[in-house]
Amino acid sequence: MAKLPTDGALIFKVAIPVPVYRLFDYLAPDVIDLHNVKPGVRLEVPFGKGKKIAFLVEIVQHSELDVGKLKQVIRILDHPSLLSAKDLWLMKWASHYYHHPLGEVMSTAFPAALRQGKSVVVKTEKRYTLTELGKVTDSAGLQRSPKQKSMLEKFQSCPASLSEAELSAWNDNWRPAVKALIAKQWVQLELQAAKLNNPEALIRNNALQCNPPQQAAIEAVCASLGQFGVFLLEGVTGSGKTEVYLQIIRTVLERGQQVLVLVPEITLTPQLEDRFRQRFAISIALSHSKLTDNQRQAAWLQMQQGDCSILLGTRSALFTPLKNPGLIILDEEHDASFKQQEGFRFSARDIAVVRGKLLHIPVLLGSATPSLESLYNVDKQRYQLLHLPDRAGNAIEPVLQLLDIRNKRISEGLSEALIEEMRLILSKNEQVLLFLNRRGFAPTLICHSCGWVARCQRCDANMVIHFDESCLRCHHCGQEQRLIKQCPACKVGELTPLGLGTERVEKVLAELFPDKVTVRLDRDSTQRKGSLENYLQQINQGKVDIILGTQMLSKGHHFPNVTLVAILDVDSGLFSIDFHAPEKLAQMIVQVSGRAGRAEKPGKVIMQTRQPEHPLLTTLIREGYRSFAKTALAERKEALLPPFSYQALLRVQTGDVDSPPLFFQAVTALVETYNTGHTLVLGPVAAPMARRAGLYRYQLLFQNTHRKELQVLLDVLIPEIAKLKQARKVRWSLDVDPVDLY
Ligand code: ADP
Ligand code: ZN
Ligand code: ZN
Repeated sequence: MAKLPTDGALIFKVAIPVPVYRLFDYLAPDVIDLHNVKPGVRLEVPFGKGKKIAFLVEIVQHSELDVGKLKQVIRILDHPSLLSAKDLWLMKWASHYYHHPLGEVMSTAFPAALRQGKSVVVKTEKRYTLTELGKVTDSAGLQRSPKQKSMLEKFQSCPASLSEAELSAWNDNWRPAVKALIAKQWVQLELQAAKLNNPEALIRNNALQCNPPQQAAIEAVCASLGQFGVFLLEGVTGSGKTEVYLQIIRTVLERGQQVLVLVPEITLTPQLEDRFRQRFAISIALSHSKLTDNQRQAAWLQMQQGDCSILLGTRSALFTPLKNPGLIILDEEHDASFKQQEGFRFSARDIAVVRGKLLHIPVLLGSATPSLESLYNVDKQRYQLLHLPDRAGNAIEPVLQLLDIRNKRISEGLSEALIEEMRLILSKNEQVLLFLNRRGFAPTLICHSCGWVARCQRCDANMVIHFDESCLRCHHCGQEQRLIKQCPACKVGELTPLGLGTERVEKVLAELFPDKVTVRLDRDSTQRKGSLENYLQQINQGKVDIILGTQMLSKGHHFPNVTLVAILDVDSGLFSIDFHAPEKLAQMIVQVSGRAGRAEKPGKVIMQTRQPEHPLLTTLIREGYRSFAKTALAERKEALLPPFSYQALLRVQTGDVDSPPLFFQAVTALVETYNTGHTLVLGPVAAPMARRAGLYRYQLLFQNTHRKELQVLLDVLIPEIAKLKQARKVRWSLDVDPVDLY
């Protein structure tokens, strides 16, 4: 029930996760003590005909609205706030910088369970680990307790720790055995770093002896603990970056502080998690989209309350509150996955740097192929470069070479020369990795007699042939139809698949190498839960001869027995209209190459091309990524493209063709009024993919060499656009610092 205002009624200004660019005023609830009610607390408020979870931003004395008409907050969910003043500041900053409604930004920061208003219960899964005594105990002494014996063996065979779930999967009735092993002091509950008074107990396995560049990197970051600084750790794949992270993290833990480690993709977490668990005997929190809501909430709360010291997660973990922040690490910082591509389009890398500054802690960015932005920031002396020039241990860097396939015979994407190389490697029982960034059987289905092509009816795109599932599928909207045999246009023509996808290469490999085992790794083959892990295990156990896959292969995985990598179609990346394309292609080539010869055996990388003189390829091969980056930056400077200017992209999508012109007319009028600086406005134009999922797409690009000036313009423009009546008929969004112009 709304309470009638009395003089001095307090007003709560709240952010609600709806696409509206302002805060909402509510009357304070009837609580006696508002002292502990701080900005950041979750609230339940009446909204429209229902209720919503909202976030308190400010308590004020006055409202600009008619106080008599204000509704009252139903209840306060948090005592005290789960967010610190700095957390809230960061969210406000992000809301402002990305011009995204604060309620939606805050909603992103909370895990789903809390966002939906669940109350805070910290229930974490226990993990068990061997003690020093347990490690050296001979299980043969347990002949008379077979259950305990096999459990001890289970612990001894796994490198790190076992969770309750893992133990349940092993045996339903595991508790008595664990209890017995704990009583014998062979097994213990995993330690919480926060409650540890003996730092020695943190470490499970000893660190490696670092080489001088690793040592220098570790010292530089450790010397900066307790203050802000951004470090770019540039090191080829296998140069020992992860080892550097682990040793720095140890120092942070010894200071009693927490570490946030962000990786671009979920597929990278199992391997990294494993290495962390092997090194540290403490609990490690995880946060990524494959976990349940409860697990994510538990991780979030553990970090917030300081019960856990390491969080390993993907970009949305960036906002997790930290009780004792010590360090933020972003691995593979160049990866575009750090930029959210829909809704609240933030860059986790850029916000991490802002957060580091706010919290007075260092931020460590690592990559074998740093982004041009970060290299530019090194040039500008905003970031400090830490370089690991060589592979660690005895591993040797692979040799890259171009294979000119002009006028050569090719069977399903494989030239004869490549097939010869493959035979040689396979005869030595070493592994081959083939990279093709296109899944499905073939990207086009065409009529041999009339030229008809299977197009998606909802997108400007061809339907991709998926033979295994006997269907045609659009990779942009997911539309599917049965695979047809006869041309629907001329009714007589035979339909032929054109072009190459991983499924097609897989089939030809089975013919060429019938006694060899091929594993295909792409989004289709790894859909089932656990299938990727399963394949990776088979590969590492040497049960696989040929690994074939898409960009999934270029990310993080170690294939120590691979000695030949082939990029089947490097040319397809050379002719994109997006200015980011060369950078992405170069990164992809170097990352894929990095999978070869990671152990003692040297590796070789072959790129099939019809453009053997292309400057991007020749520079990359002869002079390496750094040289390529230097050239690419010079080109961007010449063209005044980012990072030498700043961009924001206004995107519009709509089902009807008539609305966008009216919308853009109104926007252009606003731009003319407010653009007093030198912001370049390009467009409106149809998006490079003009129709997608049944919607027409347009865009308007803003660009300025001064970030401030662009921001000032957007500050006034965006709220005005939001008010336009023409804006109600279209779906529009703003992408600040876009990484993808599609
Ligand atoms: P990156 O993260 O740069 O790919 P990793 O840290 O995974 O590199 O190291 C690659 C391999 O080299 C790993 O097997 C790691 O154990 C090993 N390694 C790292 N540092 C050293 C070192 N200083 N001495 C010997 N081996 C090392
Ligand atoms: Zn036809
Ligand atoms: Zn489609």
